[in-house]
Amino acid sequence: MAGRINDDDVVAVRERAKIEQVVGAYVALRNAGGGSLKGLCPFHDEKTPSFQVTPSRGFYYCFGCGEGGDVISFVQRVDNLSFAETVERLADQVGIQLRYTDDSGPRPEPGMRLRLMEAHLAAAEFYAEQLASPDALVGRQFLAERGFDRAAAELFGVGFAPRGGRVLSAHLRGRGFTDRELVAGGLVRESGYDFFQSRLLWPIRDSGRQVIGFGARRLFDDDRMPAKYLNTPETPLYKKSHVLYGLDLARQPIGRKSQAVVVEGYTDVMAAHLAGVDTAVASCGTAFGDDHAKLLRRLMGDHDAFRGEVIFTFDGDAAGQAAALKVFSGDQNFVAQTYVAIEPTGLDPCDLRLQHGDAAVRELVGRRVPLYRFVMTNVLSKHDLDRADGRLSALREAAPLVASIRDKVMVERYVRELAKLLGNEDFEEIRTEVLRAASRSSRRAAEPVPEPTEQRPARAVLPDPHDRLLATERETAKLLIQAPDLFRPGWDGISSSDFTHPAYAAVFTAVEKAATEDGGTEDWVHRITAAAEHEQLTSLIVSLAVEPLPVQGAVTSRFVVAHSAGLQLLTVMRAIAELKSKLQRTNPVEAQQKYNQMFSELVVLEARRKKLQSRSLGALD
Ligand code: ZN
Repeated sequence: MAGRINDDDVVAVRERAKIEQVVGAYVALRNAGGGSLKGLCPFHDEKTPSFQVTPSRGFYYCFGCGEGGDVISFVQRVDNLSFAETVERLADQVGIQLRYTDDSGPRPEPGMRLRLMEAHLAAAEFYAEQLASPDALVGRQFLAERGFDRAAAELFGVGFAPRGGRVLSAHLRGRGFTDRELVAGGLVRESGYDFFQSRLLWPIRDSGRQVIGFGARRLFDDDRMPAKYLNTPETPLYKKSHVLYGLDLARQPIGRKSQAVVVEGYTDVMAAHLAGVDTAVASCGTAFGDDHAKLLRRLMGDHDAFRGEVIFTFDGDAAGQAAALKVFSGDQNFVAQTYVAIEPTGLDPCDLRLQHGDAAVRELVGRRVPLYRFVMTNVLSKHDLDRADGRLSALREAAPLVASIRDKVMVERYVRELAKLLGNEDFEEIRTEVLRAASRSSRRAAEPVPEPTEQRPARAVLPDPHDRLLATERETAKLLIQAPDLFRPGWDGISSSDFTHPAYAAVFTAVEKAATEDGGTEDWVHRITAAAEHEQLTSLIVSLAVEPLPVQGAVTSRFVVAHSAGLQLLTVMRAIAELKSKLQRTNPVEAQQKYNQMFSELVVLEARRKKLQSRSLGALD
């Protein structure tokens, strides 16, 4: 979101939002003496309370899982919100009017946000009541025909905007809202008429469950607005590029499952959730864009080692394929983790559920394929692959697709995949064509447009020393350089694949090489730099050689053993996550043998995880 919240206001929110009250809304807290409160930790499973809140200091800390922080980080973590969203929500609760330091967009006047939220809540309640009115019969039929009963309508708060033109504005004015507020919130038009009339309405909520706008469907032939669907206009609350319908229900499942399913309409979101696909969302009145992608990535807790998957459902027809291609041209980082689920019958999730039941919707999601593969298959299908010239033109057309992938590991994977699809075992030929396509596109892109990708290689070579996700890798690299003698033979089982950052992996390879070569009287650090693949690694190796280790006093071999186990534990956990995601994608009935094999692999990995875990905690074996 544009605009940074004033630092003083953040401090004020932190002070005024009582941590015991905020936490108390999620966790039952008991007095634990010494001015502290205790309860069951919301961040891990436990039976005896080890989660402690100290109101005088404004902190919480869990002795079980180590999670801790202040009132803002608590809400951020427990509700999966961004920092700004959390501060805004807490500020609304405690009545602080936030100021924004960056004037990159018009900001609501102080207090306006809160008023608009109240008006939307009142409007949503009013509309939901109206769904029972005689005038709303067509609306109720619309829902019933699509398989939604009354309970479903209530769960999603579906409502009806009455005919008459000024019914809502009269109602809300009676509740004390001013015309200015109603117009600012997009509920009433400048002309004084209700924004929505004689339509079926879906309240759109933000991830904090506040109603911020509505989506409306045309029901009557005499509707004066031509569009079938109409949404709240841009308001201080409602920014369509950031809004996803269903997010209030899907937010927590998305975080838990690291998966989001993007469908196309309100009824599809309803159908998906009712069918058990509780991670379903839809963009409202606009195409799914980069901001939506960022929002989902954040909710999935995405980072380098663990990537969530975003699954788009599309019709199998040309329009659906075009939509998939459009997604493809978006944020490339996002695309790498994007899947598509195509329903061959062309039914959308709503109709699919209606005609074939809940299981069919879940199976649709289960049939997802990576977006790259889908797009590539599409391209190849236009060529006659039985002929050599057909294969060549297919390669020419597919190569730029592969070249557009920024993630180098993925490029290699898709080069192989493309080779397979073309029935061409000559990876080199494919790779050459991809490289050629890449240089063509970079020449084309060599316009005066500032390209953020230009900075990427520099960052890719040397890791950020403060990257917390790479902390274990960095510490291990430091130990390898500073205390090599404390490792047991074979470097305690470490391999270069335990390092996710190529530079750390290269340092490890250099260490291994330096240890097997006769370095004469040369000191250890110089032997490593001499063995290193690139000269750029020298500065990294030197800094690793002098950076302090995270121990007081001398490093012990016990520490090294525990640390090496910790590093390998991360590798195993990544492998487990990947395998679990593969298992999810595998139908246990259709691919029983494959499924069982993966399952036994998982059992082996889990056993290894347990062993490494206890070793990393200092247990001797
Ligand atoms: Zn905990």
